[in-house]
Amino acid sequence: VTAAHQVVVVGGGFGGLYTAQSLRRASLDVTLVDRRNFHLFQPLLYQVATGGLSPGDIASPVRHALKGQRNARVLLAEVTGIEATRHRLLLNDGELAYDTLVLASGVVNHYLGRDAWRPLAPGLKELEDALRIRRRVLAAFEAAEREADPERREAWLTFVVVGAGPTGVELAGALGELAHRTLPGEFRAADPRRSRVILLDAGERILPSFPPPLSERACGSLARLGVEIRTGASVVGIDAEGVTVETAGGQERIPARTALWAAGVQGAPLARAVQEATGCKLDAMGRVIVAENLTIPGFPEIFVIGDMAHVEWRGRPLPCIAPAAIQEARYVSRVIRARLGGGVTPPARFEYFDKGMLATIGRSAAVAEFRGLRFWGFAAWLVWLVIHLLYLIEFENRLLVLIQWSNQYLRSSRGSRLITADDGG
Ligand SMILES: Cc1cc2nc3c(=O)[nH]c(=O)nc-3n(C[C@H](O)[C@H](O)[C@H](O)COP(=O)(O)OP(=O)(O)OC[C@H]3O[C@@H](n4cnc5c(N)ncnc54)[C@H](O)[C@@H]3O)c2cc1C
Repeated sequence: VTAAHQVVVVGGGFGGLYTAQSLRRASLDVTLVDRRNFHLFQPLLYQVATGGLSPGDIASPVRHALKGQRNARVLLAEVTGIEATRHRLLLNDGELAYDTLVLASGVVNHYLGRDAWRPLAPGLKELEDALRIRRRVLAAFEAAEREADPERREAWLTFVVVGAGPTGVELAGALGELAHRTLPGEFRAADPRRSRVILLDAGERILPSFPPPLSERACGSLARLGVEIRTGASVVGIDAEGVTVETAGGQERIPARTALWAAGVQGAPLARAVQEATGCKLDAMGRVIVAENLTIPGFPEIFVIGDMAHVEWRGRPLPCIAPAAIQEARYVSRVIRARLGGGVTPPARFEYFDKGMLATIGRSAAVAEFRGLRFWGFAAWLVWLVIHLLYLIEFENRLLVLIQWSNQYLRSSRGSRLITADDGG
């Protein structure tokens, strides 16, 4: 009996999990390796960061997601590198042989060369990041309640979000809602309504990847939630007491005890190890530049997908979004099946279907663009809601999120406002 073809998938995010699941009917073995034991629905991290959802609502064990798939197994391990010529994956505590390798280990927060800002302004990428932000934000309101000096209290009630892409906009909107709709009435000395949520960006408009009229709409929705928008403002300094920005009018200091980072990501460290092993090229963001069939040039048995991959589409790299990772996963699984003699051979080039863009602002507004059609306000928010519920991996998560959102929508409540243990971050 010949041994089954071994497909090793690194990462249990959208790219990795969908690859493994799409291979469920193929006669091969799939091993999914992740250093975390759960699939994380990152698009709702901002809700955990602002107390709207609990961690368990947006994360589910990868092992459970693949429970019914007989040809798949899950290994909890950190991948540290590859030995491409020996077809071996290097783990923190061993190695693993593969016939076909699919790399989908995502991206990490990037501080534009200012790593000293990392502990001062947490980013939002991992579940722990969301918990860290939640702790800092809630602790700031508590500190404001106990602060007698008005100026210092104001600094505790000032929240600066750096970066006005979809993550920054969603985070600022949710913070505005928390401060101006959820918390009022719960404090005695500090008035959460006096909080300032400031959304900063060096560019000239927020949501630069959206058409300008939708940026305008988003500005209106944010303003209704009390968010101040400062475009054309580059951050030049962050410390424990505030943020310094450079604007056309010169430098300005914003006293603020909470700064949050939503200004950039870069390829996972594993991308560098892959570069060393294969000589592949990385783009400026540190993502692996792949061939048109998503393999590493010269290594037809190694695919790179999702955020970790730089996939050229119509002259531009695809953005780091879930639909790209999912479509790439499905394509790669078709290529693998076809190579082993199963299914129809897919086109030699990966074709992307643009499903448009969405960003939500608070609990009842969003902006959306789909093939030239633009939606905003409540209608766009409903689209956002349905899509996010559909893409949650487990039915259980969908139910939990729906219950929490109904509660949030009807009562402005945010039930997961817990200040949990400090991990030093
Ligand atoms: C705050 C936020 C909001 C977002 N909102 C949206 C949105 O609204 N819509 C949208 O389409 N997209 C959104 N995205 C982007 C979307 O989440 C990503 O495009 C998607 O998760 C990419 O999937 P992936 O599989 O490439 O990587 P990921 O989902 O990041 O998964 C990577 C996996 O690899 C594992 N891993 C990493 N390194 C190693 C290693 N060395 N060894 C073992 N395992 C490893 C990680 O633990 C992780 O499970 C958002 C992202 C963030 C951070």
